[in-house]
Amino acid sequence: MKYKNIAILGSTGSVGTQALEVIASFPERLKATVLTAGSNSDLLIEQALMFKPQSVVIVDPSKYLKVKEALQALPIEVKAGEEALVEVVQRTDIEIVLNAIVGSAGLRSTIEAIQHGKDIALANKETLVVAGELVMGLVRKHGVKMLPVDSEHSAIFQCLAGEEHNPIEKIYLTASGGPFRGRSLDFLKSATKHQALKHPNWVMGAKITIDSASLMNKGLEVIEAKWLFDLEVDQVDVIVHPQSIVHSLVQFQDGSMKAQMGVPDMKLPIQYALTYPDRWANSFERFDFANFSTLTFEPADTKTFRNLAIAYEALRRGGISPCVMNAANEVVVAAFLEEKVSFLGMSEIIEQTLTQVSHITTPTLSDYLAADQESRKIAKGLI
Ligand code: NDP
Repeated sequence: MKYKNIAILGSTGSVGTQALEVIASFPERLKATVLTAGSNSDLLIEQALMFKPQSVVIVDPSKYLKVKEALQALPIEVKAGEEALVEVVQRTDIEIVLNAIVGSAGLRSTIEAIQHGKDIALANKETLVVAGELVMGLVRKHGVKMLPVDSEHSAIFQCLAGEEHNPIEKIYLTASGGPFRGRSLDFLKSATKHQALKHPNWVMGAKITIDSASLMNKGLEVIEAKWLFDLEVDQVDVIVHPQSIVHSLVQFQDGSMKAQMGVPDMKLPIQYALTYPDRWANSFERFDFANFSTLTFEPADTKTFRNLAIAYEALRRGGISPCVMNAANEVVVAAFLEEKVSFLGMSEIIEQTLTQVSHITTPTLSDYLAADQESRKIAKGLI
């Protein structure tokens, strides 16, 4: 049987390492042809020795020689730098690019991969937050598939299988509520990074874990869903579901609702994106009703967790606004992790940045890239 050749961008991260677990469980059918890392050369080398890809990229150029020397006995191409990320997705042997890079750094390689006819398995939600309209336009133009990896969007995608001719009335994205669900503004004033990094249900990279605590992650997902499923803003709703078993729901025009359920484990949505439209037998953990006698749902508290409201506002305003919000958010999350800004201070800086960048209604790619840089500068200045 022929392998499916996969490029994993961000193979050393939380999604990337779980994608390699999925690939390792189907050695006859899936092949990691390209692996890339930001700066974690040790893990990249370990992965390359184990999976023997055709090509690896280390973005940090200072780590190039180390990776090159460690892999010199193997026929593996080693590249370094940001441009290498954009070049490597053009390889003719790649069929699908799993983009698991964190942040807007993933945008250019997604666009390049689409323009070279590759299907995209998208974990890097920032790609669609920053430039959703442009990216989905390219997906249609080049006739490639945009397969969601985010568990909520994978859930919606799975609910829509076989429903192509039935319009969606509404979708509900579920949110766990994160570690601070039910907490007051008073508590959040002095919330620490250690508290924020303790997600109740998911083990993920630091940035998305902080985004989950502040509900920005759900805001980014609302924007991602709008573009992925071609919806109006009011068709995307958020409901807090602390057990993270119902991964999201679709409501059709006859009022019928479909939900996709399972244990909180990213390997399933990763696998579905890589094997779509088929489902392959695996031995991942199964849901057990005995462990969950009650599943609960409650509205999201957008007064206390302002980031979700800010994301809806940015999406309604459209144009460059979600890109500005995303860039400011990346800056403040990094600063929060360095204990340079408070938990609530993050929302204040994002809101202020949004008021300071000139609005563009129909941005081009270079407008997005320029606004990303300008917003980062403004947000840094406000810290
Ligand atoms: P991690 O921080 O764990 O991993 C990020 C990956 O991107 C690493 O391989 C990292 O390399 C690489 N990277 C970091 N900065 C750059 C850069 N500037 N250029 C190129 N590569 C870079 O993130 P996650 O795996 O948690 O998340 C990845 C994406 O998936 C995010 O967009 C997130 O929102 C989304 N996502 C994550 C989920 C999860 O469960 N983790 C669930 C759903 C979506 P290095 O290791 O060398 O730093």
